[in-house]
Amino acid sequence: MLVLLFADGALLDEKAYWLGTINLILVGRIIDIALWKSKKNVSADSGPLGIQRYAVGTILTSIMWSMYAFLFFDAMQVSEFTCFIVILASLAGASASMFSASSFIAISYSIIILAPTAIMGIFADQSERVHLGILSLSYCVLMIIYSLKNSRFTEQAIYNKNVNQKLVTKAIEEKNRFATINHELTTTTEALNQVNQNLEEQIKARTEEIYNLSNLDSLTKLDNRKAFTANLKTLVKQAVEKDRPLALLFIDLISFKNINDTMGHKVGDSVLVQVTQRISAFSENHRAGRWSGDEFLIALPYSDSNTALEIAQAMSHSISQPIYVHGNEIHLTASIGIAMAPNDSQSATELIQLADLTMCEQKQSSNNKPQLFSNDVKERILASQAILEGLQHAIENKQLYLCYQPIQKAKGYNCWANEALLRWDFDGKFIGPDVFIPLAEKSGLIKEIGAWVLNRACMDAVHWHDAPKVAVSVNVSVIQLMDKGFIRLLDKCLQSSGLPPERLHLEVTESTFVENQAFILQQLEQIRARNIAVSIDDFGTGYSSLSQLQALPVNFVKIDKTFVDNIEGKGEAIIRATLFIARELGCQTIAEGVETKEQAMALSAMGVDYLQGYYFAKPMKNKDLSDWQKTTIKT
Ligand code: C2E
Ligand code: MG
Ligand code: MG
Repeated sequence: MLVLLFADGALLDEKAYWLGTINLILVGRIIDIALWKSKKNVSADSGPLGIQRYAVGTILTSIMWSMYAFLFFDAMQVSEFTCFIVILASLAGASASMFSASSFIAISYSIIILAPTAIMGIFADQSERVHLGILSLSYCVLMIIYSLKNSRFTEQAIYNKNVNQKLVTKAIEEKNRFATINHELTTTTEALNQVNQNLEEQIKARTEEIYNLSNLDSLTKLDNRKAFTANLKTLVKQAVEKDRPLALLFIDLISFKNINDTMGHKVGDSVLVQVTQRISAFSENHRAGRWSGDEFLIALPYSDSNTALEIAQAMSHSISQPIYVHGNEIHLTASIGIAMAPNDSQSATELIQLADLTMCEQKQSSNNKPQLFSNDVKERILASQAILEGLQHAIENKQLYLCYQPIQKAKGYNCWANEALLRWDFDGKFIGPDVFIPLAEKSGLIKEIGAWVLNRACMDAVHWHDAPKVAVSVNVSVIQLMDKGFIRLLDKCLQSSGLPPERLHLEVTESTFVENQAFILQQLEQIRARNIAVSIDDFGTGYSSLSQLQALPVNFVKIDKTFVDNIEGKGEAIIRATLFIARELGCQTIAEGVETKEQAMALSAMGVDYLQGYYFAKPMKNKDLSDWQKTTIKT
């Protein structure tokens, strides 16, 4: 605008060059700024270089303005000089703000622009120029002061801005760091929660496992003895408090042992599981328990005796339905005894005892109907308790004695052995061994009684002077045989009596061989090593398998009375089969329960080696045996 307004004078070309040059510098500066701004990697360190480049452009521009004064001062009119001074003052004023970020640029710019022109004005001849020169110089000084102040303020502001920026960056970094930590914490908390949850689940499962182990029967998953008794105590207490009836059913599976013995434990287990399902259908959860192997208990709260009886009958019917296991059809029956609370007892343990005893009573009866505990049952139970009590003192009270029943050779009927059969005179009342032997076995008294029998039999036998070769055959219970001291007892009896071991025979029932085979075998081998013969009593009534028998060192097989009784029917076939098996096992045979001449002749004809029975002699006291021997036997 300056060049255009005052272009009519001389020096037009020079002014055009000046204008071109200053515009060129301007364009250069614009390009430089654009290049700087487009630069990507501008760091804090490159700041001074940027300022230097900017300073060069600014100072070049200011020099160009001074050049205008130098070149055209003399040719300028007062008006042009005034206008020029105004422009310079404006530029200097603007520079104080524009370049306030750098006091050096602002001050240099003001000085270079104003000072030379002002000085030239002061030293001019024209008073207007002198005035304008003085004013400009004063303005220049003012601008220097102003620029200094302004730039200090701006520098401080920039410094603050940078510090703030750094703080903000730091704050953002911190925030991000916290966010990361927070995220990590959340992840860790989640992981911990997961671990916690897993632990809780494990603890829960473990607690359940421990509960099941200590409270549930592992096979049937019914309450075990301990858990059932505890539950029953609570139920009985409630029944007593509310005066409401509670029925307790004691269930025993008849002949279940045979299934285990003949078909194996796996089949036995499957049968028990199926029976459990049938029983459970009649009871609520935790109202059924497994008492022992094949014994179960059911508690029926709010059930009177009639209802309990009906439920027991339905249960018995359900159990008697065929059970299918691995292609086998199995038939079972159950004995059920029922006791009522609070009528029969207000104690859970006594209630179980009463139901158990009632069940035992029911088992002995011929019918298959569940039985309720009653006064009759109570009396019978008391009677058997009295028998057991009496049995405990039978030896010391000298109530026990032995009878002997001869066993004859089938050919010639010569006496070969006498079977010792125990008798008990209980205060003038005769009690048969069929009654007291099972009680003695159950109570453990059989060991003491058996030892007495063995000793007595050996003592008696050595005194059979009329029959010095006749053996004595003693019945031995499996409980005695399982006793580790039994062999010692045998030795002691033989030693103290002086009876030759070959004159002692032992009779063990077939069921003896079912369990604990290894130990029984060991015991039998020791017996055999002493030259004592062993017979299997009641052969055919037990459930031992032939393979089991084959492994056992026995000498005689006693054919049970039931087969002899039935010799005209199916008994004959069974006897023939037994004879065949015995021969295969290398055993001789004895038939017991021979009551008639026909039976004796038939058995001899079949090849039975020895005969025993009422036809020849009934069991008799030892003193009578001597007479019988004298008259009958020719050994
Ligand atoms: P067991 O060993 O099979 O004895 C044979 C049983 O049949 C005896 O009955 C005997 O009296 C009876 N008997 C023998 N011949 C005939 C006959 O022709 N007709 C009839 N109707 N019966 C006959 P008992 O003496 O009542 O003994 C029964 C069971 O008691 C015995 O059966 C035996 O298992 C057991 N027992 C007897 N004494 C003892 C003993 O001292 N210890 C052990 N552990 N058990 C014994
Ligand atoms: Mg016998
Ligand atoms: Mg027998």
